[in-house]
Amino acid sequence: MKNKKRILTGDRPSGRLHLGHFVGSLKNRVKLQDEYEQFVLIADVQALTDNFEDPEKVSESVRGLVLDYYAAGIDPDKTTIVVQSRIPEIAELTIFYLNLVSLNRVLRNPTVRDEIKQKGFGDNIPAGFAVYPVSQAADITAFGANLVPVGNDQLPMIEQTREIVKKFNNLYGETLVEPKALLGEFPRLVGLDGKAKMSKSLNNGIFLSDSAEEVERKIKGMYTDPKRLRATDPGTVEGNPVFIYHDAFNDNKEEVESLKARYREGKVGDVEVKERLAVAINDLLKPMRKRRLELENDSKRIEKILRDGVDRGREVVSEVMQKVRKAMKIDYTF
Ligand code: ATP
Ligand code: MG
Repeated sequence: MKNKKRILTGDRPSGRLHLGHFVGSLKNRVKLQDEYEQFVLIADVQALTDNFEDPEKVSESVRGLVLDYYAAGIDPDKTTIVVQSRIPEIAELTIFYLNLVSLNRVLRNPTVRDEIKQKGFGDNIPAGFAVYPVSQAADITAFGANLVPVGNDQLPMIEQTREIVKKFNNLYGETLVEPKALLGEFPRLVGLDGKAKMSKSLNNGIFLSDSAEEVERKIKGMYTDPKRLRATDPGTVEGNPVFIYHDAFNDNKEEVESLKARYREGKVGDVEVKERLAVAINDLLKPMRKRRLELENDSKRIEKILRDGVDRGREVVSEVMQKVRKAMKIDYTF
């Protein structure tokens, strides 16, 4: 019997899913889909806020996301996959919420500030980009979600959502559900380049759809301990991306501990540490590659998953919207 509580999560379709997504959020979604009513939003409208000049990139990534979800173990019979642009009420709700936040508050969001810098918008920050957290508040609340499994870059978004919910409920009466964030095991996985976050836009990740050879190649080129010149030099394990990945993806904990000990003593080379890591990651991805093949060439089934998801999504959202319009006194009968 499913819990009555709802989950809403999602991703922007602007590329493929990587291992950061997996340990940050996807693993939780796979686990929780048996227990909760879960919606996964393919946030194409949000993806357009920083890809509006390249709309094909967004639309072409939608199908790939479905494949990534399926490969990772999301079961479309248990989880509803919803394409955001097909639920126009989310845009309507965003407009209502924009009255409930100040411009200064929006621009104080630390994740948005980092991303504005990273994308080099300069003085030309698209207004739609600056307010995307407000549209995310609309995503979450439109589905009446209680729980949102995310990586820690998303905590400011959940905080902003909770503020909007409180303000709305104060002004218009108890209507919206206040959501909680649920952090994954590794809420911010480092990139292959040692940068703080593995990310689609930084192209520093291992994708769930990478072949075994690509995984091996990427790991071979990974950033390790820059101070270590020879395999006989004592190396640093802490903060070393290769060992962070071992902790995240190698289930053979004994092997990981022994590699760490030998690394610290200068008794193992980067090559071996990386080879073991490639084996562990390919072990994780192997069953995903198999599941992906089941669906990859079945475009009818992919379309059905998307169509059914939109139908179910519409039902749920239109119920919430009725309550919202009523609370805001715009539930006209004419
Ligand atoms: P983009 O660079 O386009 O923003 P992204 O790689 O950050 O892409 P999103 O689609 O923005 O991916 O993120 C979707 C979800 O995955 C969010 O919940 C986010 O917190 C989580 N996530 C993304 N990257 C990581 C990471 N490196 N570690 C942990 N969680 C992550
Ligand atoms: Mg992101």
